[in-house]
Amino acid sequence: MDKVNILGVWVDKVNIGEAADKIFKMLDENRPHMIFTPNSEILMVAYKDLKFREILNRADMLTADGIGVVYASKILKNPIKERAAGFDITCKVLEKVAESGHKVFFFGGKEGVGKKAKENLEQKYPFIQIVGTRNGYFKPEEEPEIIREINESGADLVLVCLGAPAQEKWIARNIDSLHAKVFMGVGGSLDVLAGTAERAPEFWCNHGIEWLYRLLKQPSRIGRMMALPKFALTVLFKGRRFPQEKAEG
Ligand code: UDP
Repeated sequence: MDKVNILGVWVDKVNIGEAADKIFKMLDENRPHMIFTPNSEILMVAYKDLKFREILNRADMLTADGIGVVYASKILKNPIKERAAGFDITCKVLEKVAESGHKVFFFGGKEGVGKKAKENLEQKYPFIQIVGTRNGYFKPEEEPEIIREINESGADLVLVCLGAPAQEKWIARNIDSLHAKVFMGVGGSLDVLAGTAERAPEFWCNHGIEWLYRLLKQPSRIGRMMALPKFALTVLFKGRRFPQEKAEG
């Protein structure tokens, strides 16, 4: 089985390298693709909100962003081997497109964050083609203009960083009007690429305790963190109601 059904959402059992390879191939296919990287908090939202669950299941690939998702797959006896965080996949894909010449657009973050991320990446990869940036704070009536800007940039890959679940909803709502080949909803990735937010050091990530690092740095996250034990209990008690065999291929 190449997917695991976690509370109704089919998550792909891919690691970072496999996910990046698949995305890279999608860049040369003739249709737009949606890539989402749910963590346990977002899977809990999807569990309670059927419409949002359907949006996630329309994606071309869903990867396990948090260690909670990996544990859930183990509880369900359909294990994902390791975490495939959106930020790590993004870095691998950017490394590949820097060589291939595919064009990239950054959508999201506060004003200036996309531009700083672009500058940093251009220093690292002198040939990378970042063809546009747009902050993620806008009124609904500005959406057509944003779509036009993204389309006219000629981008192949668009990082959509509006935070979850806004970014997933934005991509799904607009996918039919968009021309790029891959849209990745990758939350705070632009902030990390810009250097305005830092990622937990490798030790914490490798030991599955990035959540603890973030909590110590930002104790106000405690409310959001309570989603984690709720998620574990829900998977434990309700998770087996969802089939692990997919009806269609
Ligand atoms: N963000 C945005 N527009 C908004 C709200 C958030 O562009 O209306 C950006 C925010 O600046 C940040 C990113 O979305 O760069 C992720 O936000 P957050 O950390 O709240 O989301 P998470 O990824 O933790 O769900």
